[in-house]
Amino acid sequence: MDTQDIAQALLDTAGRLRDRGLLFRGSHANLSARSGERMLMTRGGDVAQLRAEDLDWAGLDGSGQEAFQPTFREVIEMHVKVYAQRRDFGGIVHCHPAHLTAFAIAQQPLPAVYEPLLRLGIHEDVPVVAWAPRGSQESVDGILRAFVNPATSAVLLSNHGVLVAGADLGEALARLTILEEAAELVLHARALGGAKPLPKAAYEEVVERQRRFQATS
Ligand SMILES: [Zn+2]
Repeated sequence: MDTQDIAQALLDTAGRLRDRGLLFRGSHANLSARSGERMLMTRGGDVAQLRAEDLDWAGLDGSGQEAFQPTFREVIEMHVKVYAQRRDFGGIVHCHPAHLTAFAIAQQPLPAVYEPLLRLGIHEDVPVVAWAPRGSQESVDGILRAFVNPATSAVLLSNHGVLVAGADLGEALARLTILEEAAELVLHARALGGAKPLPKAAYEEVVERQRRFQATS
């Protein structure tokens, strides 16, 4: 993907976050896409109305942060350090969707009980990272500890919001969308006695089924 395509992917993703109701009323969010040893990230502006001039590059080594507005500079480490640790990630979205953030402020992991999560590789509960000021060393260290688990691609940030990653921004957005659906549905299920777990072998069965259909397509 060339530089222009990456910028367009960020703008498109920001528009979809808005259109899918994944931005809460304040539109607090930041997102990035990695290319080699650097990343393009929101540097300012309103994510609900993101423009190309609201994006800038920063190095995974922490270089190039001068162009970022303070509220975005505060959270650069939350992106670059995750990319540096997890080379399988190429896109990261942080935002405060209403239902996922309800789990975050209740400090309750989101259970992986909704089949579409499995199809996007999410087959373990989404963990909660202990609270510390956003973007702080302590907060970032907690996120990195959660991402040591290769099965983890999303974390709930206590009393704050969610951070979701994928091989690219498209995968991160797809995961975020389904996670927010799952959070909403789990809350509804509580009125009906609570969500029931999937069978233990469900993930293997879903992956096997996906593989079988992909092989024949
Ligand atoms: Zn936030």
